[in-house]
Amino acid sequence: MDFNKEELSQIINKVLKELDQKPSGSSGDYGVFSTMEEAISEAKKAQKELQSKFSIEEREPLITAVRKELHNHVEKMAVMAEEETGMGRCEDKVIKNQLAIDKTPGTEILTTEAYSGKLGLAIVEQAPFGVICSITPSTNPSETVINNAISMIAACNSVVFNPHPNAKKVSLYAIKAINKAIIDAGGPANLITAVAEPTLQTVERCMKDDRIEMIVATGGHGVVRAALSSGKKAIGAGAGNPPVLVDDTVDFPKVANDIVRGAAMDNNLLCTSEKAIVALDCIADKLIECLLEESVQLVKDPKPLERVIIDEDGSINKALVGKDAAYILEKAGIEAIDQDLRMVLIDVDIDHPLVLKEQLMPVIPLVRAKDFKEAMDMGVKIENGNRHSAMIHSKNVDNLTAFAKRIGTTIYVKNAPSFAGLGAGGEGFSSFTIAGPTGEGITCARTFTRQRRCILVDGFSII
Ligand code: NAD
Repeated sequence: MDFNKEELSQIINKVLKELDQKPSGSSGDYGVFSTMEEAISEAKKAQKELQSKFSIEEREPLITAVRKELHNHVEKMAVMAEEETGMGRCEDKVIKNQLAIDKTPGTEILTTEAYSGKLGLAIVEQAPFGVICSITPSTNPSETVINNAISMIAACNSVVFNPHPNAKKVSLYAIKAINKAIIDAGGPANLITAVAEPTLQTVERCMKDDRIEMIVATGGHGVVRAALSSGKKAIGAGAGNPPVLVDDTVDFPKVANDIVRGAAMDNNLLCTSEKAIVALDCIADKLIECLLEESVQLVKDPKPLERVIIDEDGSINKALVGKDAAYILEKAGIEAIDQDLRMVLIDVDIDHPLVLKEQLMPVIPLVRAKDFKEAMDMGVKIENGNRHSAMIHSKNVDNLTAFAKRIGTTIYVKNAPSFAGLGAGGEGFSSFTIAGPTGEGITCARTFTRQRRCILVDGFSII
């Protein structure tokens, strides 16, 4: 077969490009490396390539390819996460993964600002940081990897993921699927990386590396504190303890159905889920009656539950986090009325430890308030200054507004299950990194950019 010079050159270029796109690094397996050094240096290379060869328009097809590919893995990731972590409910994990895939914004959320006038034109563009260290939780493992990968790559960064050691298999599975989709779509290899055996030491090593430009910590107070003490630009998405207030203007039984759907979602693993109900005393009994119609069991004496949920040192028993309601009852020596029970309800005082601690279990305390002012005080006490999430059910505009002002949370959901605040059955995009402590809010590609201003004096203003 004869080729002319131009055809030959095209073939050589194609082969070279393909070779270049093979997962690189001696031990690399679609972004997964044996050492943190390799994970960081390959992510650095990939980011340089992304920034120099892919315009914003050329990044979007990579994101589209990632979404398309991930749809083939949703059920698998849900099963893997449940098996590996022993937490949550598979069918709910399917919904959470789909939400991350479909409703995390891509490059469309990045916009250029312009100021024009007699002095000319100024534009503000959103530039990448470079390589981001993203630390992800066990409670939404693949969801956080997917959500952060889409947002951070859309913003032209690369990412070194540090998954929770207890959720490494499913997190690394998502990382490999994402890298494969990017490579198949003609993008750089290793835009997201990780080590095969993540530990606290590998996270520390990653956070300290000079090539890491930003740290994004999604998890409990400890990891947020560690990220904020790193001396680098850090975004902290920490723990919450969302209250849900119910006043006397609500529709029954809708309110009970909304609360159970939010609180029981993935066995209450979401940091945004309803963790304690504050009901006005005048409607509390009616609310309990309606909740009991929603596959909920009321436990009159909370002591046995308290004993198994709270350890001697006052911390939450990790072995029960994200477990089924019937399983938790069994551990407490209480017979479950139904093995498919969605939620356990206890009727207690505001100072009960199961009210004030973030449990991440489908065991939800209800506290009674004599009036709306007291209900707000209780809501604020339960939320404990996390600035995370709160819910309210009311048709009284004054009440809806007053609690919003008092509670000051990043997410405030009115008359719907908590997940409406994540874009599931509510307006707005989705995120699994809710940055309350550092104030970025519901993160998206914009969050992971640097603002750069470019000014031309005496030109380009056309009016
Ligand atoms: P976790 O805090 O135990 O772990 C989160 C991640 O941080 C893991 O990768 C872990 O290895 C790492 N880590 C923990 N301590 C660290 C330290 N001192 N230094 C460096 N890395 C450290 O959390 P989890 O149990 O996996 O997740 C549940 C917690 O995360 C809950 O408190 C929940 O509210 C919170 N959370 C918050 C958000 C949010 O967007 N705000 C999202 C999901 C989970």
